[in-house]
Amino acid sequence: MASFGHLAVGLFAGRLHGGRDLGRQPRIEEKVSQKVSPGTLLFFGFLAQLPDFDVFGVVFGVHDLGPFGHRGASHALVTAIVVGLLSGALARRIGWPVVRTVVAATLAVASHGVLDACCEGGRGIPLLWPLSHARFLSPWRVLPDAPRGFKMLSRPGLLDLAVEFVVFFPLTAFALWRGRPALLRPRARPQAPPMSASAAPLATEAATVIARATEAARG
Ligand SMILES: [Zn+2]
Repeated sequence: MASFGHLAVGLFAGRLHGGRDLGRQPRIEEKVSQKVSPGTLLFFGFLAQLPDFDVFGVVFGVHDLGPFGHRGASHALVTAIVVGLLSGALARRIGWPVVRTVVAATLAVASHGVLDACCEGGRGIPLLWPLSHARFLSPWRVLPDAPRGFKMLSRPGLLDLAVEFVVFFPLTAFALWRGRPALLRPRARPQAPPMSASAAPLATEAATVIARATEAARG
């Protein structure tokens, strides 16, 4: 698959994650107004693309059909788990919720291999490497498999990219929709409305009456 579908899934993971944990922030207004930052979305978008960086290894001489070639170990589920754990360690330093980061980062990276296995072309994915070198392909290979590198700019490559864009547009639009806060962020409790100017004297008077009644009862 070309990069757009992976990027869309990564952005969606970023939207679900929500970025910095505002649960400990004292100001409720800040929690409500905070949106998912572009940096958070781009971080998870990058993670979802990360497995395809194995093409640089191939460029520098790694055997393409070996376990570390394109669509090799980098696309395995164990790689997703390792990246998820490393992201969790980073999260602790930058104030993100650790468990949510581990889960979202693992899913973002793991989605890459699973989506590649759903493409109509290309080799299978060794999802269970290093336990097994078997390469998996989905029985539903419905996604286009755009050519790599500059070949993507050819007519069939651009057509595949357009199909991918249409298929993943709803997910991308939802992830980038700026009108709503993060989906999984704790919601702020509604505050009690401030006392109006007309109600304040009444409250003071009621307190005085109660105090006098208490004094009378004691006497
Ligand atoms: Zn890939």
